Amino acid sequence: MKPKTMMIHSGITGDEKTGAVSVPIYQVSTYKQPKAGEHTGYEYSRTANPTRTALETVIRDLEGGANGYAFGSGMAAITAVMMLFNSGDHIVLTDDVYGGTYRVMTKVLNRIGIKSTFVDTSDPEAVKKAILPETKAVYIESPTNPLLKMTDLQAISRITKEAGILMIVDNTFFTPYFQKPISYGADIVLHSATKYLGGHSDVVGGLVVTATEELGEELHFVQNSTGGILGPQDAWLLMRGMKTLGLRMEAHQQNAQKIAEFLEQHPAITRVYYPGLSAHPGHELAKTQATGFGGMISFDIGKEENVDVFLSQLKLFTIAESLGAVESLISVPARMTHASIPKERREELGITDGLIRISVGIEDIDDLLHDIEQGLDAVTNG
Ligand SMILES: *Cc1c(COP(=O)(O)O)cnc(C)c1O
Repeated sequence: MKPKTMMIHSGITGDEKTGAVSVPIYQVSTYKQPKAGEHTGYEYSRTANPTRTALETVIRDLEGGANGYAFGSGMAAITAVMMLFNSGDHIVLTDDVYGGTYRVMTKVLNRIGIKSTFVDTSDPEAVKKAILPETKAVYIESPTNPLLKMTDLQAISRITKEAGILMIVDNTFFTPYFQKPISYGADIVLHSATKYLGGHSDVVGGLVVTATEELGEELHFVQNSTGGILGPQDAWLLMRGMKTLGLRMEAHQQNAQKIAEFLEQHPAITRVYYPGLSAHPGHELAKTQATGFGGMISFDIGKEENVDVFLSQLKLFTIAESLGAVESLISVPARMTHASIPKERREELGITDGLIRISVGIEDIDDLLHDIEQGLDAVTNG
């Protein structure tokens, strides 16, 4: 089955009693056992719930893995994956990982002895050098946020296979519609489903897919033991969102490409970061390991004062954190998502005070371009 067909048909087992075409919301915690100790596959909803199972089947099929698991948020999913490791184990991560991932590694999991090192994973040699005898996994985001740096998934997988350790990929930005890390050797793929998978700014969730059943069983043991599951209502909302993932990703990317090209030639912009531009350092790599370039763009508008002039003119871009939904959102990483990083470190990473990030929605491209253009006119004329 092709991805767009899976989005519609995966996880649908058919309700024998009613013939319901969509998966029912099984708002239930426990299940009648025909005989004490015998059950139907469902005994208690922390362990498994049919609505959640349907969602877990969809993401498993889309990522091409063995097992899927749904959690109450992306961070709950990431934390559960980290609970596969033991005190004393060491993880190598992308240096500009999602802020919440950085926080959980350095402020929570460090307290129970899970150690981490952050390196530029777009440089496979740097990853190789960071691997210690106690390293158990390399954890990657590609592309990263907000500078959209790409990591060579095959190169990292060669390194992790040789070291006999796991490769974990946060695939939130490209989604399985554009990038399937398991096909490049990843052992675990995870998502903040809050973003593109849900796609409508109305649900928080996390999803994990394991390449093997053994890893899946280990993760299910952690999930059932620690309990960070997704409830049936939210599982249903996510599945509803995911039915149009393919259509939405194509629309996001078409709009993003046009906006990135517009920004690239505009005199008020000093730099544009979008993997779909041939000038982007990860462009060629993106072409080989992904089937699209996504809907996230960052650009530098120069002086910090320009940021407020530009933002105050916009009518269609909502100033908000988060990304990946149908409506266009805009953020200022230095003041919002990356404010907790010291200014000097931010400047080193390229996250300047004039950097703006947009999550391009699926509105009409003419309206979006017009909105940006009049905002930039105010910067140029001010
Ligand atoms: C948002 C996000 C997360 C965290 O997910 P939540 O659903 O907010 O807990 C993790 N990784 C990336 C890349 C994200 O964008």
